[in-house]
Amino acid sequence: MYKGFKNAVELDFSKPELKEKMQAAFEQVDAEKGLTLPLVIGGERIYTEKKFESINPSTKEVLGYSSSASAEQCDQAIRAAQDAFATWRKSSVDERVRCMRKLAQLLVENRFYIDAWNIEESGKNWGEADGELCELLDFINSYCVHIQTLEEGIPLMHTDEHNVCKYIPMGVGATISPWNFPVGLFANMLIAAAITGNTSVNKPASTTPISAFKFFELMEKCGIPAGVINFLPGSGSDIGDLIVDHPLIRFINFTGSKDVGCRIYERAGKVNPGQKGLKKVVAEMGGKNAIIVDSSANIAKAAQGVASSAFTFQGQKCSACSRALVMADVHDEFVAALIEEAKKLKADQGTGRDNKTIGPVSSKDAYDKITEYIEIGRGEGDVVCGGTYSDEKGYYIDPTIIDGISRTDRIANEEIFGPVVAVITVNSFDEALDIANQTEYGLTGSVYSETRENVIKAKDEFNVGNLYFNRKCTAAVVLQHPFGGFNLSGTDAKTGTPNYLRNFMYLKSISEDLTF
Ligand code: NAP
Repeated sequence: MYKGFKNAVELDFSKPELKEKMQAAFEQVDAEKGLTLPLVIGGERIYTEKKFESINPSTKEVLGYSSSASAEQCDQAIRAAQDAFATWRKSSVDERVRCMRKLAQLLVENRFYIDAWNIEESGKNWGEADGELCELLDFINSYCVHIQTLEEGIPLMHTDEHNVCKYIPMGVGATISPWNFPVGLFANMLIAAAITGNTSVNKPASTTPISAFKFFELMEKCGIPAGVINFLPGSGSDIGDLIVDHPLIRFINFTGSKDVGCRIYERAGKVNPGQKGLKKVVAEMGGKNAIIVDSSANIAKAAQGVASSAFTFQGQKCSACSRALVMADVHDEFVAALIEEAKKLKADQGTGRDNKTIGPVSSKDAYDKITEYIEIGRGEGDVVCGGTYSDEKGYYIDPTIIDGISRTDRIANEEIFGPVVAVITVNSFDEALDIANQTEYGLTGSVYSETRENVIKAKDEFNVGNLYFNRKCTAAVVLQHPFGGFNLSGTDAKTGTPNYLRNFMYLKSISEDLTF
């Protein structure tokens, strides 16, 4: 079905010529530092008096400033999107796909520049930043395929009527994105809206507005008319409710924390004066992901998988592993191997440009929250690796393993969103599954086992949106691992699939009497 589709491949930065290109991109970024971002409403750039800073978490350097939308500007942006919808909804699928293919081309042309801003603003290493860009290319290319299939509608019976059931766009949507994939997720959500014929207002996370804006500028050049997308930075606590409550908003595409996602879900359920239609919410939220290691597992492989899942990008992926559920008879061997893996990943103060495996966490708020959890974990169990941190120059936390955690402890149940993994000892595979499923989340999970019976059981009983075996629980690949969680991890969005795009379309059934 996807013959000819190839996933984008991360750049190999060990090649000197690619390193040089990256350095050149950093120089380009340096020349732009101190910039001020505008709002973009209906194609017009608006600079507001109220601004907020974007900070490099590796060094605490101020990278630039962003305008901050007022209540009136939110309303203005939503109305601009509504105006643009009148024509964009009539655009052909062919035209939308052409724009998206152009966008993919622009992304490839500006790859190093986009990666460089992402590295500076989010604290990712080079590979993680480029991996994010690759996933975005995959999203774009896969949606170009899916939208053409969806254009066919659904097959119907024909009698003496001519019957058609086709997908149509919904109207104006809001996209609200997190900081941890400041390019990829910001982009994925607004691309899904645009390729389905909708228009939208697009709120980036306040920690990473520049990376989002740099993508937005490319999207403005891909051929879509002004007003189809509208850049609307501002604090979520100030403008979030205004956007969500607005009567012209038809859908909200949100990725972020459980608390904000649940708030949006609840508010969107209320029909406000002037509103036509019930709002649809696509919410992708947090996780408390577990990896089970049973007695038959390849322990070295399991330790590598848990370390990679828990510590890459400093554990700041919604899919990250934060609980290792380990059978008692392999516990000591596994923990020793995990410590060895974690020790390879120390978080030294750096520049963010040194491309170390482990960088800083995203902000002072994140640093404070994660270190508080480390101290809670120190009280609940034994810190057997890491537990050390410093915000001397940037926000650095060493990969931390906390052993001896019981299933009722806080760090066994609450999302930490940092480089911290709790080790919980179990006495049976059933107990492991029971603990894996006990949290309110249901995003990713993995099982290391060479016992077929356990694998089959877990396939049925491990209740998460993305389940893996003998592999890490991060790094979902578009068209291979459709991504999205159950329970309070979200509405099971499954990014990169036709199902994802269907979230933003109505199905219209049309029948014509042929005997008349
Ligand atoms: P967050 O605090 O929930 O923020 C996400 C977005 O919501 C930001 O743009 C934020 O704006 C905005 N926001 C804040 N308050 C709002 C309100 N009252 N109404 C509307 N919007 C509001 O999450 P985060 O810290 O950026 O991201 C980390 C979380 O995202 C983690 O829980 C992680 O697991 C989750 N995540 C999930 C997935 C997934 O696919 N399931 C992917 C990535 C991340 P400000 O930045 O201005 O506050």
